[in-house]
Amino acid sequence: MTNFLARTATPDLVNLRHDLHRRPELSDEEGETAKRIAEELEKHGPDEIIKGLGTHGVAAVYDSGAEGPTVLFRCELDGLPITEISTFGWRSEIDGKGHLCGHDGHMAIVCGLAAELAAKKPARGRVVLLFQPAEETGTGAAGVIADPRFERIRPDFAFALHNLPGLPLGAVGVRPGPFTFASEGLAIRLTGRTSHAAQPEAGVSPAAVTVRLMEALPELPETLGHQPGHSLVTLSHARLGEAAFGISPGEAHVWVTIRAIDDKLQAELIGEAENLARRLAEAGGLGIALERHENFAAGHNDQDAVGHIEAAAEALGAPRVEVDDPFRWSEDFGRFGGVAKTALFVLGSGDDHPRLHNPDFDFPDELIGPGVAMFEHIVRDLCGGQTAG
Ligand SMILES: [Zn+2]
Ligand SMILES: [Zn+2]
Repeated sequence: MTNFLARTATPDLVNLRHDLHRRPELSDEEGETAKRIAEELEKHGPDEIIKGLGTHGVAAVYDSGAEGPTVLFRCELDGLPITEISTFGWRSEIDGKGHLCGHDGHMAIVCGLAAELAAKKPARGRVVLLFQPAEETGTGAAGVIADPRFERIRPDFAFALHNLPGLPLGAVGVRPGPFTFASEGLAIRLTGRTSHAAQPEAGVSPAAVTVRLMEALPELPETLGHQPGHSLVTLSHARLGEAAFGISPGEAHVWVTIRAIDDKLQAELIGEAENLARRLAEAGGLGIALERHENFAAGHNDQDAVGHIEAAAEALGAPRVEVDDPFRWSEDFGRFGGVAKTALFVLGSGDDHPRLHNPDFDFPDELIGPGVAMFEHIVRDLCGGQTAG
């Protein structure tokens, strides 16, 4: 169809991807991965390497020395606490941990871009290659941005890609505007008083309130009149009392994940969920504790930045997929929208490929070459240095 997928990666890059795959590390524990990446980057002679951004973030800077934009490319260092079930030679060597989101592949792509930049520096502005920690928990981007040294690499544009199973291999999907949902976990703990199961009236059971919350919270977007498809509350965990027949329960936990198309709607929805839980708890004579976890900002694609992705896809003959609606999953990359013109695009991993976070997922090596080509085209578009192609 096109020669887009014929852009194969060097054996070095594929080996790097497999090495990273063998040694996955969890969010904020990516010390060894960061070290391996810094060594790899040293080979490609950047003007500066900044280590320890946030926690384990690594940035390589290629500076033309001439006026121009600072353009950042972001990839992720972390794996997942999931046991991999694949049997190929580069399967995870660490029990209970796996690179099952493809961050190993994203890192290989950005290292491939480093090699291209070493071969031909940008002609204007600066290129920053950022390997960010803790994407999966939603804390890494904020940590990198809060690091005082981030000022030295503060970008005008920031780009990232994520591989996506369920789309044709190598297909590029992007749209301006909302692209990925905001997301946050809400943990609700209800406390009453235990009693003998023969005398439930002598205690305060959270059972009825728990059931009402489990029904009412997922219906909240509709109750509040949100536009269909713009927000979502998913029940993710619930527990009532202890597994015992003799006790009327005195405690319950209800966890929900709350998602919305933009940060404003998200803030409204989570506030309403907390109010609902408080009201029901009070009416039921229960104590309540609320905790928020894993906050991801919504990802908003800047029109200008998307233009550079579209131009790259067009020039390289990449197959395209329409993205009609924003994705309901979240990406920590959304946080960079507060500091730069950002755009994230998806790169298809194959229609029938195991899904992200599945135990048999593996990043398709065929995407490394096309991924490098997309990023390099964007560099040449914004910072010159070589005819793109
Ligand atoms: Zn993931
Ligand atoms: Zn991911």
